[in-house]
Amino acid sequence: MRPGRSRIGRASDTCLFCRIVAGEIPATVVHETDTTLAFRDIGPKAPVHVLVIPKAHHPDVVALARDPAAAADVLAAAAAVAEQEGLVGDGFRLMFNTGGYAGQEVFHVHAHVLGGTPLGPMVVLP
Ligand code: AMP
Repeated sequence: MRPGRSRIGRASDTCLFCRIVAGEIPATVVHETDTTLAFRDIGPKAPVHVLVIPKAHHPDVVALARDPAAAADVLAAAAAVAEQEGLVGDGFRLMFNTGGYAGQEVFHVHAHVLGGTPLGPMVVLP
């Protein structure tokens, strides 16, 4: 485990993002608080693409909403990342894919912070 990082909540050894929190898998961290971590998406869909997660394991945004303090921390961290990345003036997108229809791939809740270019339509029908 990376020095200074501790497992919080129900950290799972099999959860990819819990393992990033634990420092077992590398990530390009751009922002960190006691309860949140933000790192660059490994497959960026925009010039700026950062994932913001609670350090505690919540599978999706529905579960996160049951922990209002953690939800507020994630929102504040996402806003701080947007400021830090220079996205606030031009605008950016903050997005939680949730469940199968939305194509959620990693079941440790994460907010996508996307920006740095005009973004396409939010809803794309197949
Ligand atoms: P979602 O479809 O909302 O679950 O998004 C999962 C995101 O996690 C995708 O955009 C992936 O590119 C990203 N991702 C997967 N593995 C990693 C990793 N090791 N480091 C950073 N981002 C990752």
